[in-house]
Amino acid sequence: MKEDFKVTFWGTRGSYPVPGKDTILFGGNTTCLEVLIGKTTIIIDAGTGIINLGRKIVTDYFAEGKEVPLELTLLFTHLHHDHTQGLPFFTPLYLGQSILHFFGPRNFGEELNSVLERSMAPSNFPIDLFSTNSVKNITTLKENHIILLDSKNKTPKLINKSLEKPEIKDSTIVIKVMNDYSHPANNVFVYRIEYAHKSIVFCTDVEGYLFGNTKLIQFAKDTELLIHDAQYSREQYTGLPAPRQGFGHSTPDMAIEVAQKATVKHLALTHHDPASHDRQLNRNQTRYKKKISNLFYAREELTFLVE
Ligand SMILES: [Zn+2]
Ligand SMILES: [Zn+2]
Repeated sequence: MKEDFKVTFWGTRGSYPVPGKDTILFGGNTTCLEVLIGKTTIIIDAGTGIINLGRKIVTDYFAEGKEVPLELTLLFTHLHHDHTQGLPFFTPLYLGQSILHFFGPRNFGEELNSVLERSMAPSNFPIDLFSTNSVKNITTLKENHIILLDSKNKTPKLINKSLEKPEIKDSTIVIKVMNDYSHPANNVFVYRIEYAHKSIVFCTDVEGYLFGNTKLIQFAKDTELLIHDAQYSREQYTGLPAPRQGFGHSTPDMAIEVAQKATVKHLALTHHDPASHDRQLNRNQTRYKKKISNLFYAREELTFLVE
């Protein structure tokens, strides 16, 4: 039986959280995406949006009678603050019944487990990552890895696609990885999640290239939903006194170029600049919808059904 394939935005903001009256509509929490296929949960990034998601997951888990372990897969695009700062407050981390599978890139020659450990170092936080009660499996990913999950089985399996061909059943969830080099100082992973001939691509903290990001266009080809960074408006990107070129983020025009060349079905823009309030984002949404009608600005707690 084909399960629902749903995506929920829990944090759509870039750089730092911005609570307050001007961000009620699109949300003030930093990056976090929930992908739910059947009962299998995949989370991308642990910005402050993961705090509300964690509460919901634990509430549902107890309501369902907690008969099986709470098993979750967490993917990191990269390890900048706005993609990790919610992790210390992610409730499942503290539950003995949780089995958490973390995947993400190597950072400046450092493995994922030590970068995550530092994000909760005792000098900055009262409890260190490995003293929390959950079981943690932390794996540094490479571009030639594929993660296989199942809409029924929540334990991920990692394969090296150069050596092994994945066995795909109707219930298989396939997670592919693309390494992008456009974000300053280090790389960023872009993820493509496929299930039952449908897919989504999550692509944040990337900056566009002249003629479009060719590698990304190939990676996102014909996806149902491309979620793309669009932190800066055209004016913020080029405008004086502080042009943002080279900061590793895109404009809506760059995201649209990728979406059109990759012939994606829907385009969601995310990683909104903390200085952009709801009225501006609404205005920009109306402006860019005229250019490409299947576009929307991601907002917190919006759920998109992939079909
Ligand atoms: Zn970011
Ligand atoms: Zn970043």
